[in-house]
Amino acid sequence: MKILVLNSGSSSLKFKLYEMSGKRVLAQGLIERIGEEGSAVHINYDGHHSDQEIPIPDHDRALGILAETLPKLGILESFHALGGVGHRVVHGGEAFTEPVLIDEKVRETIRRLIPLAPLHNPANLRGIEAVSRLAPELPQVAVFDTAFHQSMAPEAYCYAVPESWYREYHVRRYGFHGTSHYYVSRQLARLMEMPLKNINAITLHLGNGASACAVQGGRSIETSMGLTPLEGLVMGTRSGDIDPGIHLYMNKYGKLSPEEIDRQLNHESGLLGIAGVNDMREIQARMEQGDERAKLAFEIFVHRLVKYVGAYAALLGRLDALVFTGGIGEHSAPVRRALCERLEILGIRLDPEANERTGDEAHAIHDTQSRVALWVIPTDEEGVIAEESYRLIGKE
Ligand code: ADP
Repeated sequence: MKILVLNSGSSSLKFKLYEMSGKRVLAQGLIERIGEEGSAVHINYDGHHSDQEIPIPDHDRALGILAETLPKLGILESFHALGGVGHRVVHGGEAFTEPVLIDEKVRETIRRLIPLAPLHNPANLRGIEAVSRLAPELPQVAVFDTAFHQSMAPEAYCYAVPESWYREYHVRRYGFHGTSHYYVSRQLARLMEMPLKNINAITLHLGNGASACAVQGGRSIETSMGLTPLEGLVMGTRSGDIDPGIHLYMNKYGKLSPEEIDRQLNHESGLLGIAGVNDMREIQARMEQGDERAKLAFEIFVHRLVKYVGAYAALLGRLDALVFTGGIGEHSAPVRRALCERLEILGIRLDPEANERTGDEAHAIHDTQSRVALWVIPTDEEGVIAEESYRLIGKE
């Protein structure tokens, strides 16, 4: 059975096509600048590339082009020959604790949750609706970024704010990157050859967005993102935790509107706000040339991580493993080294040579003295979406 995984953004559509027997990736790609000038389709398949610039006014057309192009390239007989489509959906609120087959009720619930993810959920829905119009017979599955964290206890997910904020406006911590934390925690158990239920781990998803998760026996008990992805760690362009009083202060004295404050905290803060660039590779390169702002950005990034890992170790009561994933987690040896050096209090001992190893394979980076296993595990969110879709569609 072939499963198409879609990540539908406001002006882009990322896809990955799987043959589920043997779980092979047949093709992957990106349709970008939908509804804008210079829209284009990029497809990688079987060692080949196909790139075409073509006007794409909306998501329906984007999907239509994909449905025409995949058979033309000999990758798929026809769009209708798919077994189904799996979608990444950002916000499942309290309604979804696991992946679901999409029906009208599910769509309505994703729509109802739009205030919690005003940019993402409408874009995700556009992808779902485009598939329904093009191939109404295909089963579709939604896999939510928030679902894995629904296991958090009230003391972890409740903000200490008036109860009516939660009751009337659903203000609570939800967490994101759930599919990634779910995947790497399961891979960890496999790699450590231990039952998942016996492992207390902290998983660090460090990409352009970044979050930490405390995973106890395979369940998320705490995570660093909150109502929105803005809370928690320092990220590429997001501030992570700040004093909520700053909002009013900058509104009053900086003369910034609430929308402008929100924009700057999401898009002009984090590494970018401090160093002028959001790419960790560039920060590291500038640090080596003695750039003080880059050094400060790196140090703030690591300092925040130390605080979170320390706190989560205390919450877990015992720490068996620390997992690094996401672009920075998987590839930045300097970030992992700086963090692990500051965590010796937890019994963490890095193997410096293993830490420098490059490549896309999961590998351990602890030395024999370490009380905590340290692992680099490449994440595979699309793979999880494909598998979960296959599982649910197979049940039909
Ligand atoms: P996204 O969250 O957009 O999916 P990624 O998971 O791809 O992002 O992570 C992007 C981040 O990973 C960027 O900050 C980038 O600089 C960083 N990164 C990628 N490769 C390296 C590397 N070799 N060394 C340091 N940082 C890296």
